[in-house]
Amino acid sequence: MRNVDAVIIGAGPAGVTSAIYLKRYGYEIALLDPMGVGGQLMMINEIENYPGFKNAKGFKLAQDFEEQLNFLGSEVEYTLVKSIEKTEDGKFLLKTDVDDIETRGIIIATGAKHSKLGIPGEDKFEGKGVSYCATCDGPFFKNKKVVVVGGGDTALTDALYLAKLCSEVILVHRRDQFRAQKILQDRVKNEEKIKCVMKANVVSINGEEKVTSVTLDNGETIQADGIFIFTGIVPTSELFKDLTEMDNRGFIITNGKMETSHKGIFAAGDVRNTALRQVVTATGDGAVAAASMDEYLSNN
Ligand SMILES: Cc1cc2nc3c(=O)[nH]c(=O)nc-3n(C[C@H](O)[C@H](O)[C@H](O)COP(=O)(O)OP(=O)(O)OC[C@H]3O[C@@H](n4cnc5c(N)ncnc54)[C@H](O)[C@@H]3O)c2cc1C
Repeated sequence: MRNVDAVIIGAGPAGVTSAIYLKRYGYEIALLDPMGVGGQLMMINEIENYPGFKNAKGFKLAQDFEEQLNFLGSEVEYTLVKSIEKTEDGKFLLKTDVDDIETRGIIIATGAKHSKLGIPGEDKFEGKGVSYCATCDGPFFKNKKVVVVGGGDTALTDALYLAKLCSEVILVHRRDQFRAQKILQDRVKNEEKIKCVMKANVVSINGEEKVTSVTLDNGETIQADGIFIFTGIVPTSELFKDLTEMDNRGFIITNGKMETSHKGIFAAGDVRNTALRQVVTATGDGAVAAASMDEYLSNN
């Protein structure tokens, strides 16, 4: 078993920022993530709303994050945290798939994952036409017809990206208006390869070996080779359900200092109950969580 001042669980934008700050404060830290550095960044094709980068590729930004970590003498450990216990002397014992770590404080930065539609065919055809990541899977659908589900920023951004590759993109949204930023709505309107179907829900995904069509609740069946689902996210917070307070959707409740209901445990980024889940807010949270951790470690 080893001892560190603080453990950061998750190396997406929030966790990496916390690590950078804590390292610069001079603490001994462990930054743990089985996927390495990046988190959801690895699924983003282009980011246009992170200051300083007019048009950044997600994986490139992740590489830059990692370079900065390494420059400060820190690195991510490819490790999954499996459980957390409280020790008698007020510390925490983390069991991972590699070793046990004792620490005085924890920053939870485990982010979020895509939510599912929960309809027939969705699980059966995952990886065979059903995707949640245009950056990862878009190139498999070159010159093919795809359906995109959702009405937020991610759905419209990825529909625009897919329109560059695919022969046709059918954007299905359950409401009569998109939630996405106006600049994205305007781009979608001007993209002739995208056709919008409003006030409709996908009720089944059909095919034999692979996806061949999707059926909507308005009775229409659309012939398509793939379906990209962007209908929201769920927090990766199951591991902490007995430790910290959460809202009814499982997002960890924090105050403005990123303190959770449990002393010594902080949360940052998409996993917490926040108004906006973006790279810029996750990095901001990560910095605040690190500053609060510094205050906690100095006083305890
Ligand atoms: C397709 C897509 C497009 C997007 N486009 C944009 C955009 O244009 N602009 C923008 O600002 N934002 C965008 N976002 C949102 C942005 O990526 C997220 O808000 C941001 O990545 C959140 O960072 P995070 O560090 O909180 O969590 P995440 O990035 O989710 O990282 C969490 C990390 O925690 C790790 N983890 C989970 N459980 C454990 C465990 N038990 N042990 C160890 N590690 C664990 C995971 O492996 C993951 O790497 C997009 C997201 C997606 C999916």
